[in-house]
Formats: sequence, C-alpha cells, structure tokens
Amino acid sequence: MTDLQRFIAGLPKAELHVHHVGSASPRIVTELSARHPKSKVPTDPEAIAEFFTFRDFAHFVEIYLSVVDLIRTADDVRLLTFEVARDMARQNIRYAELTVTPFSSTRRGIPDIAFVEAIEDARKAAETELGVVLRWIFDIPGEAGLPAAEETARIALEVPCEGLVGFGLGGPEIGVDRPQFKPYFDRAIAAGLHSVPHAGETTGPQTVWDALTALRAERIGHGTSAPQDPRLLAHLAEHRIPLEVCPTSNLATRAVPDLDRHPLREMVEAGVLVTINSDDPPMFGTDLCREYGIAARLLGLDEAGVAELAKNAVRASFLDPAGKAELTAEIDRYTAAWSPATAG
Ligand SMILES: [Zn+2]
Repeated sequence: MTDLQRFIAGLPKAELHVHHVGSASPRIVTELSARHPKSKVPTDPEAIAEFFTFRDFAHFVEIYLSVVDLIRTADDVRLLTFEVARDMARQNIRYAELTVTPFSSTRRGIPDIAFVEAIEDARKAAETELGVVLRWIFDIPGEAGLPAAEETARIALEVPCEGLVGFGLGGPEIGVDRPQFKPYFDRAIAAGLHSVPHAGETTGPQTVWDALTALRAERIGHGTSAPQDPRLLAHLAEHRIPLEVCPTSNLATRAVPDLDRHPLREMVEAGVLVTINSDDPPMFGTDLCREYGIAARLLGLDEAGVAELAKNAVRASFLDPAGKAELTAEIDRYTAAWSPATAG
C-alpha cells in the first residue's frame, strides 16, 4: 500500500451515491444465501468469490438480480443494511446517504411498514454500534415505470421514516425520460425531501437539463456527459449543484471508454462541486477507498487534495450544518495529524 492509499483508508469519509442492494459484499451474500439455500446463489466462499468476480455489465445485472432475489423477509433487509454499514465502517465511512429501492422489496411481498422498520432499526444500530450515520434516498427504479414511481412516492410520503432525506430515480436512462416523473418529484419535494435523480450517465447532457428543470435536482447522480455541454457545466458550477461521480461504475457501464478518458478533470476545472462515490461497489469490484485512489490519480492530488474531495462530499450532503461542521473538523484533524511514518 502506498502512503496515499494508507491516508485514504484512514480518512473519515462521506458517501452520497451508493446503492443498498448493490453494496451487498460476498460476505453478506454468503449470509443471505445460507438463509435461503434453495436459491441459485452459491453458499461456499470460494464459489461466491468466483460469482462476484466482475466480468462485464451483463454479469453485474445478473449478480444484482440474484441478490435482490435473496432478500425475502424484513429480517433479510435488516441484515443487509447493518452489514453494509459494517463494510462502510471498515473503510472509515462516517456518513452515507444510501439509495434504497423499497419497490423491489414491497413487490416481492415485504410489507412497506416492515421494510421501513427494518432499515430504520439497522440505521440506529449502525450509528450506536459502528459509528456510521446512515440516511436514505428512496429511488424509483426507472425501468418499472410510473407504477413504481407511484408506489415509491407513496411509501416515502406515507410510511414514517426518520432517516429519509431524499427522493431519487435510478435504473436505465435510455428510453426512460426524466420529465415523466415530475409529479412524483413535486410531491416528494413538497414533503421536504431532496431531489437526487441519476442523469447523464448513459445519455447526453439533455437528460441532466431535464433532471434540473423537470425534477428540480439538487444533486446529479453521475452527470458523466455534462462536460459535453459547457453551458451545463457552467450552470452546475454557478448553482452549486454537485455531481456524484463513480469512476469504476462509469467504466463498467461503458459510460466512459477507459478511466484515463473520464471527464472528472473537466468537471473540476469548470468549478463544479464534485464528489467521489462507489455506486455498487462489490459488484463492480471496487470500494470507496479505491475510487478515491482513482480520483487522486486522475486529478493529480496529494493527501491535502484528497481531503478536499472528502470535504466536498460533506458539503454536498444533506447533513445539518452542525453535522457538516463536525465531520469537516474530523477530516481536518486527521489530515493535520497525518504522517506516513506513523500510519498503521
Ligand atoms: Zn447509481
């Protein structure tokens, strides 16, 4: 491990773009598959490791769907959520806004109230036992269309959930126009939720404009194509609308042809508030520390520069001002005390 990698590993971090089911590591999947031995997911660690070796995007979808299929009870939801927080704690992630798709679980028969109670229970346990603060973004799986939007908005607005801060839109972008979801975002925003749709990952800058105008996005999930439109980049910079950049995910989905051609530098040079995230980390063979390492290489950053990236995530988060000040101070203390010689 290089000094910079050690610095990143110990750095207190916040993550804003990471999916609940997509964070299920081989360890967690082993636990879930042991509960449901009839599933097609292997149960022994070696077979699981093989199953999880990232091959291509189609393979990612296959893993993702088989993990979705392992989450059959509210207790499975609780286990997944708490164990995801444990994996975050190991990377010194202190705060995460986890994108959760309640529709996937309610349509498989988990009652909405039981689902929300399970994630809330795990959230409280993660905070007290692991020191990881979790907040939720409930997202519409775009491929499931307006019925999924209706169900997601209903759960977000009707089922009490203290940890819920945002309303999102995921799934494929091609053929799934952003503006059709405007009424659901309007309702969520009126109820006090923040608007955080995915946009401009696999489609052009117009999708980002749509997310801004129709869905009143406060942050953009990915926005990879934004640099194709200088006026859009200027708009994002001027209005301080952060981008949630996930480099390895962008490579896996072929949103970028190779990492060296990732437009991260153009985003930063245009003055956009950029945050670094891991999206579906174990399924893309990555984690947040590795994504910070990639960003440091692409941007030519040293320890102080990486600490700034971590602070960007705090700035772009929906933490309250006191929470932001506390986590920022923690990053500053860690950076000031950093010395490669003494790092463990
Ligand atoms: Zn995502």
